Amino acid sequence: MSEPVAPNLVTAVSEHRQWDRLMQMARLGSITGADGSPGVNRPCLSPLDRQARRLLIAWGESIGLTPTIDALNNLFLRMEGREPGLAPVLTGSHMDSQPAGGRFDGIWGVLAGLEAIQALREAGITPRRPIELVAWTNEEGGRFAPGCMGSMAYAGHSPPDTWDAVEDGEGTRFGDALREQMALEADLPRRPLGIVEGQAPHAYVEAHIEQGPRLEAEGQDIGIVTGIQGSRWFLVELRGESAHAGTAPLSMRRDAVQDMLRAITALNALMDDPTDILRFTVARIEVHPNSSNSVAERVRFTIDFRHPSAAVLTERGEAIEPTIRAAVQHCAVTVTERFHALPVEFAPEVTEAVARAAAAQRLRALRMPSGAFHDAQFMVPLCPSGMIFVPSRRGISHNPAEYSSPAQLAAGARVLAQVLAELAEG
Ligand SMILES: [Zn+2]
Repeated sequence: MSEPVAPNLVTAVSEHRQWDRLMQMARLGSITGADGSPGVNRPCLSPLDRQARRLLIAWGESIGLTPTIDALNNLFLRMEGREPGLAPVLTGSHMDSQPAGGRFDGIWGVLAGLEAIQALREAGITPRRPIELVAWTNEEGGRFAPGCMGSMAYAGHSPPDTWDAVEDGEGTRFGDALREQMALEADLPRRPLGIVEGQAPHAYVEAHIEQGPRLEAEGQDIGIVTGIQGSRWFLVELRGESAHAGTAPLSMRRDAVQDMLRAITALNALMDDPTDILRFTVARIEVHPNSSNSVAERVRFTIDFRHPSAAVLTERGEAIEPTIRAAVQHCAVTVTERFHALPVEFAPEVTEAVARAAAAQRLRALRMPSGAFHDAQFMVPLCPSGMIFVPSRRGISHNPAEYSSPAQLAAGARVLAQVLAELAEG
């Protein structure tokens, strides 16, 4: 096997420093899960988010990185290269969490990028290209749906005002929360949204916990992520009529809950997949008036549908609305698609760099697709992109019980450091 490109770079990655920073970040929004696990609830564009960003900026500035933010509040920390005019290598992830989230999803990718850049500094390496660390706005979609707003706007997938009217659970509009946060960060230098002066990044690499069980189950250290399956999210609204549960005959009701059951049963048949590759989830249901003795007049439910094949995603996705309309008996139906990300394949320039780094560091690595979507999905049209996974204990994520060990996370940061050094030299 070959030796690492820069052995002193690999040894400069500090397991302790990275873990300590993760635990400092985890205190900003700390919660306790049902099983006593320490989790995080740090919504995007919240006071906790601002504290976390200030902490990251302070750490970045302490090693000479320069912060900028764009119109979607994406935060960049730049390490200058030997040839500052060249397109930068971009690395990072997100700092927001699910409402009952873990301490590693997203934030580890940001802190691994910081650790890798700090290791470059300490190893005395100034790469040819600049390296930019990015924290994308609202990847989770936990407060404002859908997720990945920051990366979608950056990549030109959606105009930046697309989500202005989206409301959180308290009725705050995304556009207002964004304006407030931009005002509170008035001291941070601005940069244009998206590609600057026609110069796409040279490459994008995102480190992330696996959020699934494969690496642990197969005794692997590193996931070489080959691509991401596609996702489509829908919001379904069924409108019937409220009535008294004791007096309204069943034959006269327009019961939205009963129609929802018909719709979901028909959708389960539509989404049946003997190969068990397709992912179909109904997990958020709102019933109005939500009273035990009133017939439901309105139901809203979400659909999360994912598949690695664009054809399956298109065909069955387009069949969702007709299937619901054919199944319901009494209600008016509205189906709104809220998120649509096609499946992507990552670039060999990045996947092979990850494979080389893992091999040079004597780590066991597995080529695998990602079931979860990530900001990296939207970078694929812009530049060679890829991801590095580390194992998640029992595959648990979006849960306070989410866990990867300090050593597993350090191994991921070492691979990232070597990949960044190689890509930024190219
Ligand atoms: Zn994530």
